[in-house]
Amino acid sequence: MSKPLSHNDYLNLVKELNSYAKAYYAQDKPMVSDFEYDEKYKELKAFESSNPLLIAPDTPTEKVGDKPLEKFEQYTHKTKLASLGNTFNRDDVEQFYNRVLKELEQDSVEFTVEPKIDGLAVAVHYENGTLKLGATRGDGFTGENITQNIKTIKALPKNLPQPISLEVRGEVYMKKSVFATVSDQFANPRNVAAGSMRQLDPAVAASRNLDVFIYQGVGVSLPDHARVMTDLNGLGFPVNEDVKKCSSVDEIMSHIDYIESKRSRYDWEIDGAVIKINSFELQERMGYTTKSPRWATAYKFKAEQSVTILNNIIIQVGRTGTLTPVAVLEPVRVGGVMVQRATLHNEDEILRKNVKIGDEVIVQRAGDVIPEVVKVYKTKDGNKSFVMPSVCPVCDSEVSKIEGEVALKCRNWDCPAQLKGRLEHFVSRKAMDIDGFGKAQVDQFVDLGLIKSLSDIYSLTKEAVINLERQAEKSTDKLIQAIEASKNPPFDRFIYALAIPFVGERSAELFAEKFENLDALLDAQQEDFTSIYEIGGKIAEAMLAMSATTEFRTMLSEFMERGLVINYKKQENSGVFSGKTFLVTGTLPTLKRSEAEKKIKENGGKILSAVSKNLNYLVVGDSPGAKLEKAEKINKKETFITIIDEENLLSLI
Ligand SMILES: [Zn+2]
Repeated sequence: MSKPLSHNDYLNLVKELNSYAKAYYAQDKPMVSDFEYDEKYKELKAFESSNPLLIAPDTPTEKVGDKPLEKFEQYTHKTKLASLGNTFNRDDVEQFYNRVLKELEQDSVEFTVEPKIDGLAVAVHYENGTLKLGATRGDGFTGENITQNIKTIKALPKNLPQPISLEVRGEVYMKKSVFATVSDQFANPRNVAAGSMRQLDPAVAASRNLDVFIYQGVGVSLPDHARVMTDLNGLGFPVNEDVKKCSSVDEIMSHIDYIESKRSRYDWEIDGAVIKINSFELQERMGYTTKSPRWATAYKFKAEQSVTILNNIIIQVGRTGTLTPVAVLEPVRVGGVMVQRATLHNEDEILRKNVKIGDEVIVQRAGDVIPEVVKVYKTKDGNKSFVMPSVCPVCDSEVSKIEGEVALKCRNWDCPAQLKGRLEHFVSRKAMDIDGFGKAQVDQFVDLGLIKSLSDIYSLTKEAVINLERQAEKSTDKLIQAIEASKNPPFDRFIYALAIPFVGERSAELFAEKFENLDALLDAQQEDFTSIYEIGGKIAEAMLAMSATTEFRTMLSEFMERGLVINYKKQENSGVFSGKTFLVTGTLPTLKRSEAEKKIKENGGKILSAVSKNLNYLVVGDSPGAKLEKAEKINKKETFITIIDEENLLSLI
């Protein structure tokens, strides 16, 4: 560095370094050596520290956020970040393909096929060409505002060459080559990427050198996905280069094979390929199920497998008392992750696979699924068969099978293993959401006898908590506060938190809608449950069995005695369509399907995914297809469904 930079030199240097960064991070084609980049970067920083007023808004030095946050804000997505349905083989793909052609009444439809990056899904918003906000997918509707962390990703442009406003969606990931340098500290690249994006201090995210691929543009006025990808790449977004248009099952499968053949050579983890309808208009016409878009599917690659020795089989007791045999393995790398334990599911599976202690076994893991023992690879004489215990290994109570189920269960309500499982569930985010109540606390509270029933949470004292191992005073205060703050849960959350077998979030929601209060739920009969559409016999039985248990009822009254007050306020459903269900089919004359659905929801109506007797209104446009036929069939004997058009719909509002 000889003479100081002029302002003009500085601006040119900003441009130059940004283009290097893009070439390096987005396209993986470095234009200059690391050394040269670092030298120029230093020059740039030197100019900025002596001329702070002249710092350019798009300088590469500003791509790192500054101050740590206390807590992430929630961010409600403008449109849902849906997750995709899965396909696993050619038959599945053929079915998907044929369904699309049939429903769209077309002879051929253009699809795109691209690698499915195994990372963290994010949405990033730009206003007038400037990065304004980044958010995690969260549950698809609401994510966390992680703008500061998103900004640390060098490959993501902070400023666009044009002053446009748009939302892009993509996958944040860590390169395999970067992961190799930190693999002793983390389980796999996906975990580091996800964990880093959720760090309150952006310096942590910045230090992890993460990357991103953008795979969707929202609010872009182009007719199809492939063109949007080209356009986004032109704006400086890192877009995967293996996006290809395909028009037949053969073409789709051959590109999937191509992607799979490159899997180990990519510098990023992929777990499959994504098949989408290319045209947005056709995507719109296919629409969504409650879970996922009907115009796209994820093709999942076969799970990765390894061979290792099974050293022992131990028993884990879950929160509902289920005894699960778990294989203790000679540590082995499976798909880039060290695996030491793998599930054997249940006794029947052990017998079916004829697994013995000392055998060499094939272990498999796929995505987030718990690793499992697939089959015996090699056995030798003298290897010992495993016999399931007749008593619970944790509490010594006798175990038995529930009729019709394969699993052995410990039936002791006070079993410490079950209590730990229930407690972990009770405090979890989707349940009572008690911050600072982790597995370490759960284990110690139960082991020390401080918590003997879930309701004991509300009689914990600061003195008891602070005596736990590795529990600082500050986090103790926070934990006590968090427990106190959880005492007024919405009815549905409380039901879910109780860890009743088979009662998930959705069932809890339905119970809270149907029953006025806890007493009404406890006194409900079989028919009260089965009259709820969506509630099956299994859930009803589990709920009935639970409310017949003295221990369960005692625990509930203890909750109330210790100050828990359930919030019974129902979500206000106002509007002219309140309590009514709708389905839109075919092409409407003026509204897009999504616009019509939005209007319905804004007026209190609910959108169903299929035609049934529970449907009140079917809104019909041009070429409505099978849905109208089905509705007419249902209406044959008695009119359940009112069939209307767009004009009728608008006149009702
Ligand atoms: Zn037990």
